[in-house]
Amino acid sequence: MAKFIVVLGGGISGYGSAILAKKQGFDVLLSDMGKISPLYRSRLDEWGVEYEEGGHSTERILTASEVIKSPGIPDKAPIVKALREKGVPVISEMEFACRYMGKAKSICITGSNGKTTTTSLIYKIMKDSGANVALGGNIGESFAFSVATGEYDWYVLELSSFQLDGMFRFKADIGVLMNITPDHLDRYDYSFEKYAASKMRITQNQNSRDFFIYSADDEMILRQLEKHDVKAKELPFMIHSAIASGAGDAYLTEPTSFTATVGKNSLTVDTSRLKIKGKHNVYNAMAATLATLAAGVEPQLVERALYDFNAIEHRLEPVGTKEEIEYINDSKATNVDSAWYALESMTRPTVWIVGGTDKGASYAPLYDLAQKKVHTLVCMGLDNKRLEESFTGIVPNIISCHSFEEAMQAVVRSARKGDTVLLSPACASFDLFKNYEHRGEEFKRWIKENVLNK
Ligand code: ADP
Repeated sequence: MAKFIVVLGGGISGYGSAILAKKQGFDVLLSDMGKISPLYRSRLDEWGVEYEEGGHSTERILTASEVIKSPGIPDKAPIVKALREKGVPVISEMEFACRYMGKAKSICITGSNGKTTTTSLIYKIMKDSGANVALGGNIGESFAFSVATGEYDWYVLELSSFQLDGMFRFKADIGVLMNITPDHLDRYDYSFEKYAASKMRITQNQNSRDFFIYSADDEMILRQLEKHDVKAKELPFMIHSAIASGAGDAYLTEPTSFTATVGKNSLTVDTSRLKIKGKHNVYNAMAATLATLAAGVEPQLVERALYDFNAIEHRLEPVGTKEEIEYINDSKATNVDSAWYALESMTRPTVWIVGGTDKGASYAPLYDLAQKKVHTLVCMGLDNKRLEESFTGIVPNIISCHSFEEAMQAVVRSARKGDTVLLSPACASFDLFKNYEHRGEEFKRWIKENVLNK
């Protein structure tokens, strides 16, 4: 009898896993507490995968020989608890799919911020260089779906800490750790240490032929490195520190250029020629350069693709300029650290739109930059109290708005010639919007209709 595999969650990761499991000849059930989108349902039908929605048939699920859990489902969900109690292995999509990768290699990117940007950058460099490469994680199709439907030499994978938590035998041939700053602590018993340990799983099972690329400017990473025995060749990147590694590294050689070296290959990048702006994007470019040099891409090809890469949607994405006021959509800044980098990259007086679902982190790291750059803070959320209290005395003008429309009107009233209007909320979006994409799209639509095209 074929092994019985259950996939929990019918989102992009879940349906990809279910299709791969089916292709491998297992008996498969996909089970979702909520609704499965019509598109995914039709794909599952096409592949003959059995599914249920609106609840779990617990008894049957408990008979599975293995369960693939979507990253969005927390460990404390009753079904996951029941599975663990019974000793049924619960793994992630990545852990499952990597068994069927064959000889293909992986470049895996994790961190609190910069994952999607760095992943997209690495993918573009690999693809432009002619490599047979697939992208997996938060962008496009899932890793499992690519493994089921294509044959690739390389996979570039964005890994959240939730994905990493369900990975045991998986190994990254090239692992990239961008940074570790507090986020999602609610899923780690409010322990920064536990969250950091989860991120360090990117180095698990690596051997001396593999590479580990990390930010040497990140104190938490350095502290974790003291505790973990990393076997891979280390490739640190840095703007402030001076850490040498025999295997290679990336560091600023001048204020606007960095040199990255891996073994005998070396490349100097003029950061003023990058279309993605800000110090965080220098880190992202450094990491991507090291990863692709480590993968064996010719330095000139890396350089060409780097200069050609455009900002991705909702990440410091320029929306347009009208009457010398520039509008920027950074809706993906759902935590304090990412908003810090957005503020850091502001070069003009700023009207800053913040707020949403507060994640409990302190806004104090933003005070300095806010004081220097922001003249008006437009708070956009159902509950703005903590923001107002935090920024009183720091930003001269604070306007509290409880709807999107109200916030946009306040923006238009406050912005002056020469300003930048920045949507970089430092909070999640779920109070007024479906998700950060929805928030960013609404912002762009409003600005286009009411400002740019008026
Ligand atoms: P992730 O996939 O990790 O959420 P993204 O690339 O989508 O990362 O960027 C998320 C937010 O963080 C954006 O607002 C972006 O401007 C900011 N950001 C991007 N790269 C970095 C970085 N290296 N460090 C800190 N913030 C970053």
